[in-house]
Amino acid sequence: MRVLVTGGAGFLGSHLAERLLADGHEVVALDNLITGDRANLASFAANPRFTFVEANLIEELPVDGPLDQIYHLASPASPIDYVELPFETLYVGSDGTRRVLERAVDDGARVMLASTSEVYGDPLVHPQVEDYWGNVNPIGPRSVYDEAKRFAEALSMAFARYRGCEVRIARIFNTYGPRMRTNDGRVIPAFVSQALAGHPLTVFGAGSQTRSFCFVSDLVEGFVRLMESDLEHPCNLGNPVEQTIRTLAEHVNRLTNNAGGVVYRPLPEDDPTRRRPDIRRANEVLGWKPMVAFEDGLAQTIEWFRTQA
Ligand code: UDP
Repeated sequence: MRVLVTGGAGFLGSHLAERLLADGHEVVALDNLITGDRANLASFAANPRFTFVEANLIEELPVDGPLDQIYHLASPASPIDYVELPFETLYVGSDGTRRVLERAVDDGARVMLASTSEVYGDPLVHPQVEDYWGNVNPIGPRSVYDEAKRFAEALSMAFARYRGCEVRIARIFNTYGPRMRTNDGRVIPAFVSQALAGHPLTVFGAGSQTRSFCFVSDLVEGFVRLMESDLEHPCNLGNPVEQTIRTLAEHVNRLTNNAGGVVYRPLPEDDPTRRRPDIRRANEVLGWKPMVAFEDGLAQTIEWFRTQA
């Protein structure tokens, strides 16, 4: 098959592109490199079945030839990125998603939209099931991302209902692994780089907020299974093992032998209190569940960050 990955030079996009090449597909990765990085493509850029296109999806989708599948991942995705790139985030979620869906209709391609657990906002239902409609502040600093992704889901469903487009929607929970940017602001890259420098880890608030972290290879497996499935409704993809941010800091300090401890910093506005995916749908329909234990995934991630220093 000929597969387009938008955001293909990003953290998730590059791992997905690598997996699709390994499965024997022809892969086109499109990225404008505002948060993506060509270095993420290094291990497979020379593969004759791979093409990279540098372009801004908000303006154009300059890929020739018919596509069979489109994984639409393009978007700033870390809280500091989307606060610094508010319009890019809103427009890639709206105009960019529209461009992808129009192309999918033209080519008869199936689309998998990378949506997010942020559609649940600061959730009042725990763990989060797909039927929960969420608790999102529509005008807060995170809204540029949350509402862009909610709009992208609505647009995808409208294309499915009224334009005959085959759409799959992945609601991605916190994911980690090699190729995250050291400075992307997300908690695992932040903690690991601080720990490797021997610095204290910056815990926001009291660190009692929770997250559930999925290793990137597990997520990519979920993407592929979702794309190949008949599931027409959104599907959570994440690891249900939940931990507090304080516990995460202890894990990172222990695995890196960092004696720097932690320092407490103010909690960002609208920071969700807790988050854990209910993955029954992915398990029942896709036969999917995460396989990589947190300690193993974290150890691999730390090793990778060491090579970046
Ligand atoms: N966080 C933290 N210190 C940091 C970066 C993040 O304590 O240096 C916290 C943040 O407040 C949030 C959690 O870690 O509660 C996860 O943050 P991240 O930005 O990774 O993703 P989010 O789940 O908020 O989108």
